[in-house]
Amino acid sequence: MSRKTVIDKADRLKKNYRVILMGPGQALVIGDHDTYDVTKLSFRWSCNCPWGRHKGRWSECSHVMAVRRAQMDPSSQEPVARLAGLLQELKQMKESA
Ligand SMILES: [Zn+2]
Repeated sequence: MSRKTVIDKADRLKKNYRVILMGPGQALVIGDHDTYDVTKLSFRWSCNCPWGRHKGRWSECSHVMAVRRAQMDPSSQEPVARLAGLLQELKQMKESA
């Protein structure tokens, strides 16, 4: 995938509200084939998509890029704010179970 393709895809994901920020270092991205966990590990963002797992160290995948763009644009989170809240609650329930 070329750099431009990755950037276009990241833009599309953010525009279609497929990025759900769940916390300062955690997000969910609804990709074309699956839903991916994007998490921040100290300074670096990581993604569990096939690209992120194999090439993420050298080049950011579209999901990580989309998350970073969504963070810079809080209005992109308004339509999914309730979903983010529900997901967070679910996560807390799982962790305390
Ligand atoms: Zn990814």
